[in-house]
Amino acid sequence: MKNKIYLDNAATTICDSEVIDAMLPYLKTNFGNPSSQHGFGQVAKTAVERSREQIAEMLNAEPYEIIFTSGGTEAINHAIKGVAFYQKRFNKKLHIIASEIEHPAVLQTLKYLEDFGFEISFIKVDENGKINLNDLQNNIRPTTALICVMHANNEIGTIQPINEINNIAKRNNIILFSDTVQSIGKMPFNFSTFNADLCSISAHKINGPKGIGALLLKRGVEFDSLIHGGSQEKNHRGGTENVAAIVGFAKALSIWIKNQNQYSEYFKNLKLYLINKFKLIDGIIINGDENNSLNNILSVSIDSSKIKIDGEMFLINLDLHGLAVSSGSACSSGSAQSSHVIRAIGRNEKTNRATVRFSFGKDTTKEEVVSASEIFLEVLKKMELKN
Ligand code: PLP
Repeated sequence: MKNKIYLDNAATTICDSEVIDAMLPYLKTNFGNPSSQHGFGQVAKTAVERSREQIAEMLNAEPYEIIFTSGGTEAINHAIKGVAFYQKRFNKKLHIIASEIEHPAVLQTLKYLEDFGFEISFIKVDENGKINLNDLQNNIRPTTALICVMHANNEIGTIQPINEINNIAKRNNIILFSDTVQSIGKMPFNFSTFNADLCSISAHKINGPKGIGALLLKRGVEFDSLIHGGSQEKNHRGGTENVAAIVGFAKALSIWIKNQNQYSEYFKNLKLYLINKFKLIDGIIINGDENNSLNNILSVSIDSSKIKIDGEMFLINLDLHGLAVSSGSACSSGSAQSSHVIRAIGRNEKTNRATVRFSFGKDTTKEEVVSASEIFLEVLKKMELKN
């Protein structure tokens, strides 16, 4: 949309034109089914396997450790249900631990598992959104099958100490799943040294197409398949592959990996600009760990004890003034619910509802960020309730 400032890139990003160019031949001419024996099929199969190899190389994984999925949510469902059902059947383990600030895709999957006899323990986070390791240790039981802790939070950007979490998991022979949807591409990532057994990725967060992602799975991790059907993805995920999207995913990831340092430095400066501007206003709180969070995400809350404002109307008005930002996760925006993440870091209900997430993309300009801060402060001033 013209003249609108889009600072909601943690929700989704525009599909890069280089990505679209890479995908088009697989929609127009190379349309074969990768499972077909003939030439059309083999061209498509080669494209899928080449993309898998490229993605594996960029993430320092092995090609067989990648299962293509329809995106982050499916990868998360596959990881959690796959491990949980396997552990229930073969090891009688029915306990799962998760941080309380996981994405709804994790939280709702865990809720579903309760109907199958699983018990879930949630670990608290501190005021910066960092998981409490003592709490994690104390919640471990002999029947704990899985620990779920996201790498970087989608609302406040806080990065979790995955190495330390994995040390606790491995000492107790527990599998660790880390949702890496927001972090992959945005910060260095090496699957061979990253201490989680399973990870999730989504292409549309890094200028790839929507509806494609992957589950990363370390060799030796035993789990049930989620989608039964054909023998695609080594029997783990039946269904004809989305060839064009897989090719686009590999291209999108390559752009982010190639330019990662440059993008990251750029985002750091944009974030600092906003932080410095907002810190001048008594009543604006910066959420998340300022020293250990994603550079592309900045969450701020309007402190209800200092500035009185209707939080929901505030967001609507920002949009009307041409600024597209989010109240929290993509899934919760548009709904009237306040954020479980902002609540978990200690904000009261009113402050929670007056929370805004700015998230930058690789094409975000400094001018847009400067204008965004002006719109934000102008609308805030206009909307402040005097009594
Ligand atoms: N996990 C996190 C942390 C996310 O931010 C998102 C998207 O908002 C997802 C999972 C879901 O990914 P997808 O939209 O590809 O299903």
